[in-house]
Amino acid sequence: STGYTTLKTPSLNKGLGFTDAERETLGLKGLLPPATLTLEAQVELTMQELRRKSSALDKYVFLQSLQDVNSTLYYAVLSRHTYECMPFVYTPVVGEACQKFSQIYRHTPQGLYLSIEDRGKLRSILDNWPIEDIRAIVFTDGERILGLGDQGIDGMGIPVGKLALYTACAGVHPSYCLPVALDVGSNNQAKLDDPFYIGLKRKRLTGQEYDDFVAEFIEAAVDKYGESIMLQFEDFGNSNAFRLLHQWQDKVCCFNDDIQGTAAVALAGILGSTTLTGTAVGDHRFLFLGAGEAGAGIAELIAYAIHVETGKSVEECRKQIFMLDSRGLVCKSRLHELQHHKVNFAHDVEHVSDLLSAVKTLKPTALIGVSTLPKSFNQSIIEEMSANNERPVIFALSNPTSKAECTPEEAYRWSNGAAVFASGSPFEPVQFEGKTYVPGQGNNAYIFPGVGLAAVACGATRITDFDMYIAAKALAATVPQERLDVACVYPHLRDIREVSLKVAVAIAANKYATGQASVLPEPADLEGHIRSVMYEPSY
Ligand code: NAP
Ligand code: MN
Repeated sequence: STGYTTLKTPSLNKGLGFTDAERETLGLKGLLPPATLTLEAQVELTMQELRRKSSALDKYVFLQSLQDVNSTLYYAVLSRHTYECMPFVYTPVVGEACQKFSQIYRHTPQGLYLSIEDRGKLRSILDNWPIEDIRAIVFTDGERILGLGDQGIDGMGIPVGKLALYTACAGVHPSYCLPVALDVGSNNQAKLDDPFYIGLKRKRLTGQEYDDFVAEFIEAAVDKYGESIMLQFEDFGNSNAFRLLHQWQDKVCCFNDDIQGTAAVALAGILGSTTLTGTAVGDHRFLFLGAGEAGAGIAELIAYAIHVETGKSVEECRKQIFMLDSRGLVCKSRLHELQHHKVNFAHDVEHVSDLLSAVKTLKPTALIGVSTLPKSFNQSIIEEMSANNERPVIFALSNPTSKAECTPEEAYRWSNGAAVFASGSPFEPVQFEGKTYVPGQGNNAYIFPGVGLAAVACGATRITDFDMYIAAKALAATVPQERLDVACVYPHLRDIREVSLKVAVAIAANKYATGQASVLPEPADLEGHIRSVMYEPSY
């Protein structure tokens, strides 16, 4: 029965990919029909079947089921057809999958579910995972899943999807990756009322008990896997995300993708735009619509980048960054009511309540949308930006597509082709007055898989703001001239593995330079070393 067990073990199963010799030695004779197929043929067949599925959710379930059966084939499909598969493994379809996660639950362990009822026992529960050598964990408490709010334990789809991209986009070995859902309850009443909901039916734990539970998990992970275990915070609510990040970023190897990963991607777009605008990051005046996790994260990293590039103090650099939230301009007169993460950007300026007034009075050179407010970059705003700037930078980063602050078509039309535009969701190229424009997509997948690869390859013990700055610079440097020629500030997604490698090499070099690498000695050929640890699905 070893042959049967082999077929039932996703990491060992090759299906019809087993050779005749393997079938003899592994006890597979009779368990498979006579035909053999190469991995490439299986990939082709899988893509045909994927394309036949009519609903996006069916495609999601189909791919996840493949992972449960033959993980080599799953990662081969994802790596060879990343651009086509990404929407069905990650955004936008993973959002729908999380909303229906309890209904589509497939009875196979995809990661660890740790609930507050298990508190005090988390360290021993880690021993139940079948693999000991874990290097990267993505974990969520499900409170702010994408733009969909509280999904409770159903948020597990997010760590699963993010780690699939670690492997598909950066070649992090899948066996090193562990998705974790922390179940602290949910305030989503529909979930609590759903008889099929698979999580704890209670309101969210808050306060010190919540912090203690997160701490127990992080300490258990460090105890079991060592100080270089990489912990990616994902989709925590903004009342916890900033506090947890500040609490842990100097103590363990961690980062928050919603805050810092987003920041690095956006900064890369700004750095990439320099060749088009002739404006260095330090010469910009930024206006943000939205001051949440993405907004505050991007703003802080931009301030940090200006500090690094100009030598001015970070406090001084923050003064060229302004933000609006749902109550208008973040400013000094609102200090008493501002959430902590906005305070650094509460400048001594007069309050205005709307974006157009802010654009008129502050005269920004770059407008960044992270507000979830669709159509908020309207014609008058973009015309005002264009009147003040030869090449206004307009980033409409809100996701999904329906939430974008404006479309690329609008940005180009209203700026008469001058805008340097990027979006959070993918958009098709635009023709305007005989010229082609390709809107870049500020996809976090340009950054976090490379961060994970760096951490795994060099055994990073910390991820710092400087790493995020370096990652942004490395990403910006990968944008080929032909993309810049069509006003695009990001590389092509089909080149994502090479991009991730460059990001990883840059971060790993910094880890060695700062004594925060534990894989020693430092490889003489760092890029060669990192390339050599990249997982390539094959039989
Ligand atoms: P968040 O923490 O909930 O923050 C949303 C912010 O938008 C808050 O500051 C909120 O104001 C503000 N806002 C809401 N309605 C507004 C309005 N009518 N006028 C002005 N501001 C308004 O969410 P987040 O994580 O920062 O994400 C924000 C958006 O960015 C999402 O659509 C997300 O998909 C997108 N995003 C894109 C990328 C990417 O492109 N790579 C990455 C991450 C996030 P209050 O603070 O007053 O509530
Ligand atoms: Mn996220």
